[in-house]
Amino acid sequence: MNYRHAYHAGNFADVLKHVVLTRLLEYLKQKDKAFRVIDTHAGIGRYDLSSPEAQKTGEWQGGIGRLVDAAPEAQAAMLLAPYLDAVRACNADGQLKKYPGSPLVARHLLRKQDRLSAIELHPKDVAKLKTEFAGDFQTRVIELDGWLALGAHLPPKEKRGLVLIDPPFEEEGEFGRLVDGLAKAYKRWPGGIYALWYPIKDRKAVIGFRKALKETGVPKLLDIEFEIRPASQAPSLDGSGLVVANPPFTLEGELRILLPALHKLLVLEKPAHWTLNWLAGE
Ligand code: SAM
Repeated sequence: MNYRHAYHAGNFADVLKHVVLTRLLEYLKQKDKAFRVIDTHAGIGRYDLSSPEAQKTGEWQGGIGRLVDAAPEAQAAMLLAPYLDAVRACNADGQLKKYPGSPLVARHLLRKQDRLSAIELHPKDVAKLKTEFAGDFQTRVIELDGWLALGAHLPPKEKRGLVLIDPPFEEEGEFGRLVDGLAKAYKRWPGGIYALWYPIKDRKAVIGFRKALKETGVPKLLDIEFEIRPASQAPSLDGSGLVVANPPFTLEGELRILLPALHKLLVLEKPAHWTLNWLAGE
């Protein structure tokens, strides 16, 4: 477990992932009934953008750094508002110094009846998360292998909610674990919404991943592909994607407004594309 998200927090891939997360939560909030967010690879929750790690890569400057002072058109701005609000809540003095990871973004949008399970395996990250959420009765921080949580923690007692699966992709076989993880989780809880993050680095692996997802038989799968540059010679993160299983009916329309606006802000080199495809269902 060498992966440290502090090097990457707030980069273009985090922006895309966290914007989608906020749209899913906004949908869940349309009904009063409580929901639960299960974040299987939660990270530390709050990232210091002036840390040596963040400064070393500067990745956040090509992500949240490009969004804070941007002025997207009105509809996109409205859809981005809950996300930017979560970022602002992490930066009390109005300057961008910290970046909220997925558990903090999710927590910011919960109502008093909703709950968050933040699962993390790295002992140091778990300790930070426990400090972050100390005394918060709506959030449970759990030291556990996130893949196991897809069995043991599903379905949640609320019977409504969202599972974010955001593994580090530092080891071989992560695409396969994502596919198997979704298949297992869906069997236990077919009514849940699932968001699966993946890197666009090795395009052959991405094609295989999509094919394997289709073969799981999960009936509704919306795939978001977001490139920021053409394929590099040496393997590097040229884009990122998210597959949403059981997406709310509102999501596709929202993404057709958000993705071009985000792409305009975040693209590094053209040609680079964003696409939205149903791998299954529609
Ligand atoms: N979801 C976070 C966010 O959006 O802010 C970022 C998570 S980062 C990409 C992946 C995290 O997974 C790292 O913090 C790493 O320590 C953790 N991790 C690695 N293997 C894990 C496992 N088997 N179960 C749970 N967490 C794991």
